[in-house]
Amino acid sequence: MSKLVIANFKMNGSKEFIENWAKDFHEEKESNKTIIVALPSLYLSNFKDSNFNLAGQNVSNQSSGAFTSQLSAQMLKDCGAEYCLIGHSEARQYLMETNENIKQKFDQLAQESIQQVLCIGEPLEIKEASKTTDYLLEQLELLSSDQENIIIAYEPIWAIGTGLTPEIEDIQLAVDCIRGRFNKSIKVLYGGSVNSSNAANISAKTDIDGLLVGGASLNPKEFAKIAQLC
Ligand code: PEP
Repeated sequence: MSKLVIANFKMNGSKEFIENWAKDFHEEKESNKTIIVALPSLYLSNFKDSNFNLAGQNVSNQSSGAFTSQLSAQMLKDCGAEYCLIGHSEARQYLMETNENIKQKFDQLAQESIQQVLCIGEPLEIKEASKTTDYLLEQLELLSSDQENIIIAYEPIWAIGTGLTPEIEDIQLAVDCIRGRFNKSIKVLYGGSVNSSNAANISAKTDIDGLLVGGASLNPKEFAKIAQLC
């Protein structure tokens, strides 16, 4: 099964940037990974390159109606998204998302057959208090242990955009905790300051199913290298 490598552009890019990004990505050697690009939703429809799978970065917890500013799962699907991030720590922080909202989003995506990528991860104080696994299990309470076809991205908040990454053993501990929570086999990704210098090590020394890459994905050649190394 090929590994998944997700580029999370966050609120970056423009039409021109995204076109050039794809060209530059293809100039690097191809990898045999499944490449998913989480673009700002406005740009999903413009991005027509069958080498990439598209993802939304968030979705409404409602299906339609008087929810000014929001985008439904159906709209994301209409614009080509096959995957969608939910529960990203930046959305939890800036949009005050709760586990309950995130569960509703999970269900909205399921109705449109969009693959959810649920992001979870602990803040620094939890890591320092050695309570990471309890914290992750709490974030997973929204899902039944019989849930199938899930992708969970383990993204320690203190590692996002900071240049810091957990010790390999700590990533594996978190991955084991997440897998152990479910009765079925699930996919677990790692995200947080991944770059072409650490991707191979993280990938080879843990049993993750892929990587979620934020800042480094904005450089297409760097991202292509990460995809080769994963
Ligand atoms: C992210 O925001 O999902 C992420 C992994 O960011 P970064 O790679 O920049 O740490």
